[in-house]
Amino acid sequence: MVLDGKELSGQVKTQIKNDVKTYMIKPCLAVIQIGDDPASNVYIKAKEKACNEVGIYFKHIKYADDVKEKEVINKIVELNNDEYVNGILLQLPIPEKYNTERIINYIARNKDVDGLTDINVGKLINNKKCLVSCTPQGIMELLNHYNIELEGKNVVIVGRSNLVGKPLISLFLNRNATVTICHSKTKDLQNHTTQADILVVAVGKKHFITEDMVKDDAVVIDVGINREDGNLYGDVDFDNVKKKASHITPVPGGVGPMTVAMLLKNVNECYKKMNTSK
Ligand code: NAP
Repeated sequence: MVLDGKELSGQVKTQIKNDVKTYMIKPCLAVIQIGDDPASNVYIKAKEKACNEVGIYFKHIKYADDVKEKEVINKIVELNNDEYVNGILLQLPIPEKYNTERIINYIARNKDVDGLTDINVGKLINNKKCLVSCTPQGIMELLNHYNIELEGKNVVIVGRSNLVGKPLISLFLNRNATVTICHSKTKDLQNHTTQADILVVAVGKKHFITEDMVKDDAVVIDVGINREDGNLYGDVDFDNVKKKASHITPVPGGVGPMTVAMLLKNVNECYKKMNTSK
């Protein structure tokens, strides 16, 4: 069965749009960009389009790649203090000369819609309510929607990025799954992946996971987005793996749309919190 992220993300967006219609003042997402990374430009456009669809105001702050770190931090502080801004996101990656972690940690924890500040990461580890990174949250939403049981399952995650792999460890652990995380230094990867009841792949290499690396009836979640000749490919060899898997996400149309929907959801949640706590 194909897990349809496009369809589910549409449902989430409709819900948010209906919420936003009832607000006197529109929620606002501020996205900070440093440099002119082509992939970032595409992702920012997609976020802007999604915000427009549901009625969230989109603020794009773009700096040249020679901006002083202090200037970016000052802007974040200004946005933190702006009562009309509900979510703040630093579009990643930023040029290497900047300290990504330091900049991110200036974002107020209640506006940190990417869930990347130390405080939100720590809360997630301790299973406390917090803002959770959008891609991992979107994956959990898909699994929940299709009633996929997690308790006691062997979950294998390939890829340990702060944005995807690491938050997933806590999200699955908090649901009583047994979690293994693999990365480029993992020995005999296939030995791990073939143990997975649920296999999540976030590597960034086209068709990296082949049929022989997947157990019969596994649930396969493909996070990868690889562009080649104008087409998008996942990290999983979809056509062959789908014959073996019980459930699988397509690329495009799986995790990608869910990520954007969870961003809108996070902005909406931040908005509601800010406007009920006054
Ligand atoms: P990343 O930061 O580049 O991390 C890639 C991970 O893959 C690293 O942990 C790396 O291990 C691991 N890896 C690389 N080669 C490997 C190998 N041969 N065997 C096992 N592990 C290997 O990537 P990311 O930001 O998580 O993104 C991963 C992919 O997902 C990309 O294609 C990205 O575009 C896509 N993505 C999609 C969405 C979405 O919404 N669908 C969101 C975010 C990312 P080391 O840690 O040892 O280097």
